Amino acid sequence: MARTVHIIGAGLAGLAAAVKLARNGGKIVVHEATAYPGGRCRSYFDRAIGMTIDNGNHLVLSGNHAVREFAKSIGSDNALVGPATADFPFADLKSGERWTLRISDGLLPWWIFNNSRRVPGTSTLDYLGVARLLRVADNATVGDVLSCSGTLYERLLGPVLLAALNIDPKEGAATLASAVMRETLALGGSACRPLIARDGLSHAFIEPALKHLKGQGVEVRLEHELRTLRFDGGRASQLDFGTDTVDLAPGDAVILAVPTHAAAALVPGLSVPQGYRAIANAHFKIDAPPHVPPMQGLINATTEWIFAFEGRLSVTISAADRLMNVPREELAETIWSEVAQATGIAAPLPPWQIVRERRATFAATPAENAKRPGARTQWENLFLAGDWTATGLPATLEGATRSGNRAAELAMGAA
Ligand SMILES: Cc1cc2nc3c(=O)[nH]c(=O)nc-3n(C[C@H](O)[C@H](O)[C@H](O)COP(=O)(O)OP(=O)(O)OC[C@H]3O[C@@H](n4cnc5c(N)ncnc54)[C@H](O)[C@@H]3O)c2cc1C
Repeated sequence: MARTVHIIGAGLAGLAAAVKLARNGGKIVVHEATAYPGGRCRSYFDRAIGMTIDNGNHLVLSGNHAVREFAKSIGSDNALVGPATADFPFADLKSGERWTLRISDGLLPWWIFNNSRRVPGTSTLDYLGVARLLRVADNATVGDVLSCSGTLYERLLGPVLLAALNIDPKEGAATLASAVMRETLALGGSACRPLIARDGLSHAFIEPALKHLKGQGVEVRLEHELRTLRFDGGRASQLDFGTDTVDLAPGDAVILAVPTHAAAALVPGLSVPQGYRAIANAHFKIDAPPHVPPMQGLINATTEWIFAFEGRLSVTISAADRLMNVPREELAETIWSEVAQATGIAAPLPPWQIVRERRATFAATPAENAKRPGARTQWENLFLAGDWTATGLPATLEGATRSGNRAAELAMGAA
């Protein structure tokens, strides 16, 4: 065991690494630049609508084992809630059609043979074609593998892959789409149940993780930004936080769990993905009537997914770069009119907030995916974590958690 492991960054990747390491004892210190741990996965009080909301609606699927295991380790697995079966209500705003996709449990996808379970206007044969995604070349895009047109694509594959990859699937890396498919849809409904942090991301992940870590004697230093990482020969030798420095003793290790741009600035010559894609979220302060499902997908709309929380309806739009410069009021009006149509709520625009994250995730193209580095570095005591490292998954909570676990294992071995 390393004498001290310093974890830089208290996003999901850094926290997962800390939780895993804490099981093995030894000294662990987490250094977070901001006053708010959680990174891209956290809640905050929003003054515009007077309530605590998440920086973005986050969906976890029941097949995301690392995230669920993490939640279990910190005693918060009950905070992720969802239906007992993999049911996904959809509404097509253009045609007015509504349906619920019901993915059956088990490896045999019998739901695709059942007209009332699959997407209206599709045939069993359409679904069999999706198997092409299961074996793909490293440099292929989804557009190289699937036709990216037709009813099944427009009503299911397109929306699901867009949400999973956060990029127009046509240009998205087929290997990442393939990994998502293999770990979810190909395993049947039991791996596809949608899970939501009903009382917020910080309640589900961040606060329990901090409490757990405190109980394990892990020190978490907030507003402690790593400014410079110094090297000596084959190892990282000093952490410079501007106000103070830490000399790394033999056996000490560092897990760098910061976003791409911060990692590239700290580690000389590091290859990182450089392009990003945005995500836009809209939040409306309103009590949803009981018939509104916890989550529904919209087709032929700017709005892609609607989530119903207590006292609030929230919308997610992926790969939202085209919306970054749309005036906020205009966007709120457009989205609310769609939400009202989909939910049948006849109310004028409620108090609202629009949150646009320009650098929500790295751009999941084959070229950017190829730039993702592994957890090991050329320095024997420096390991990388983060959703942008080479996890084989798109930038997701699952990928971030796995990367933290992997870096923790390597740091244990580096002692
Ligand atoms: C709007 C939005 C919606 C999303 N929706 C989903 C979803 O539905 N499902 C899903 O699975 N994923 C979703 N994601 C992706 C998910 O949030 C990320 O994959 C995950 O949170 C990344 O965690 P991370 O620890 O790798 O990075 P981050 O969360 O970025 O954490 C990095 C941390 O490092 C800190 N830091 C930076 N520089 C330094 C420094 N020099 N010193 C110390 N600390 C530093 C940062 O402040 C930050 O706290 C979404 C993301 C966004 C933005």
